[in-house]
Amino acid sequence: MKLRAPQDIGTLSMEPEVYGHSVLGRPLEVWRPAGACKLLIHAGIHGEEGETTVALSRALRALGEPSPHCAVVLAVNPDGLVRGTRGNANGVDLNRNFATRDWSTEPVRHRSTLEAPREVALRTGSAPGSEPEVAALVRLIEELKPEAVVALHAPLACIDDAKQGKLAAWIAERAGLPLVPDVGYPTPGSFGTWGGEHGVHVVTYEFEMAGIDHHVRRHVPVLTELLVGVAPWS
Ligand SMILES: [Zn+2]
Repeated sequence: MKLRAPQDIGTLSMEPEVYGHSVLGRPLEVWRPAGACKLLIHAGIHGEEGETTVALSRALRALGEPSPHCAVVLAVNPDGLVRGTRGNANGVDLNRNFATRDWSTEPVRHRSTLEAPREVALRTGSAPGSEPEVAALVRLIEELKPEAVVALHAPLACIDDAKQGKLAAWIAERAGLPLVPDVGYPTPGSFGTWGGEHGVHVVTYEFEMAGIDHHVRRHVPVLTELLVGVAPWS
């Protein structure tokens, strides 16, 4: 696939489809592939991780036509991105709201900075899958049936794949990040756990802590290659 010239990447060349709506009524957008969906890449499930949305948008904007096989969601949590909150407009950490066996009502605590204690509390939702952003993403994945899903996060600087598969190994090698089997602490109700229980192969791609310019240099080429189809799938 021929990539667009630099003067053309200011805007997206394709319109998304709407696969649902957020708590505040914002459209949840997916850029669908031209052919069968082999891979879904999503960003911005945590509204404080806007660098993932910017990097994935940069990669998508390099394409002058739909990816042959890759679906893209730039913002799983658009209300959080607009408001600058990790959770959605209900104060729910969407990555703890998936219907997993270990889903818990226990508030999830995250760090305000990388070295701070885990003291910032968010809810996990009124029930598993209660949040519209999570329910819509699950419906989308059930419809698209991708062979794998790459979930973008920051800033843990690793590629997390319980299966340690070829796709994760390829991303780790290309991104220069370590391949790990888990992030080292329990994540009840997370997307990755949901995937493991529902036959969806999830690779969590955690950017390192850095500015946008760094991510554009280091991660946009990797994401672009995933969109055009250089990487192995599973
Ligand atoms: Zn995250």
